[in-house]
Amino acid sequence: MSTLLVGCDSGSEKASPTRTTAPVSPQPGKPVGKAGKAGKKAPRGLTPVFERARKAGSRTVALTFDADMTADQGPRAARGERFDNPALIASLRKLNVPSTVFMTGRWAEEYPDQAKSIGNDPLFEIANHSYSHYAFKSPCYGLPVVDRNDMRADVDRAFAAFKKAGVRNVVPYFRFPGGCYDDAALRAVAPAKVTAVQWDVISGDAFATNADAVAEQVLAGVRPGSLVVMHCTRSAAPVTEQAVRRIVPELRERGYRFVKVSDLMRG
Ligand SMILES: [Zn+2]
Repeated sequence: MSTLLVGCDSGSEKASPTRTTAPVSPQPGKPVGKAGKAGKKAPRGLTPVFERARKAGSRTVALTFDADMTADQGPRAARGERFDNPALIASLRKLNVPSTVFMTGRWAEEYPDQAKSIGNDPLFEIANHSYSHYAFKSPCYGLPVVDRNDMRADVDRAFAAFKKAGVRNVVPYFRFPGGCYDDAALRAVAPAKVTAVQWDVISGDAFATNADAVAEQVLAGVRPGSLVVMHCTRSAAPVTEQAVRRIVPELRERGYRFVKVSDLMRG
C-alpha cells in the first residue's frame, strides 16, 4: 500500500487520530493572515490548532484538499504516476466552490504550472502541508519521520517552493501530514507562525473506489462550521472529483454555503 495518503485519511480513523491537545483558535491580537479571529489563546509557545468553527452562525462549510506527494515519490511520478488531479480543480471551478488546498512543497515542485494556476485563482487559497509529507509525530501510519530539529525548516521549505512556483494566495495555515502531532511538534513548528488546521469531517476519499460512499460519509458528517478533509491526488484518491460533484449540490440544497478556511476562522 502506498504511504502517499496513509494517515491523511484512511477512512476508519477518527477525525483527529492523534490529537493530544485541545483545539484552540488563533491567538487573540495576533492576526493570522486575513483570519485573525480572536479566540482562546494557544498554550505558551505552541502553534494554535483550528479544527472547525464552533460558533458558526450560518450554514457554512469548508472543503479542504490535500495535495500530497512525499519527498521520495519522484521516481514514481517519473514513471507516470499522477499525484495531481486537474479534473477535480476544474470541477471546483465549474461549481464555483471556494476551497483551501493544503499543498506539499514537493507537489508544487512536481506541478509548478498547476500550483501557480490554483494559487492565482481567487477561488482558492493555498496552505502548507509540509515540504516532504513526512510525519511530525511517530508513529504516523508508516510515514517516514522528520527529525524534530528539521520540522520548522520543512514547513519553510514548502513556502519557498510555493514562492518559486509563483503561487500567490498563500495563507499561514499548516496541516500536519497524516494529521499526526503532539505538543513537541506544535512547539517545533511555532516559529513558522502558522495555525495548524485539522478537521472534524473525514471524507474517506483516500484509496476509495466508491464515490457515493465518500459523498454519503461527508453528507452525514457535515454540520454548520464543519471542515472537511479530502485529497487532490488522483492516484491515491481517484473518486474525489466524482464525490464532490454530488456533495456540492446536495449541501447547497440543504442551505450550506462553501467557504475557505480563512472565512471559516473569521466566523
Ligand atoms: Zn497528506
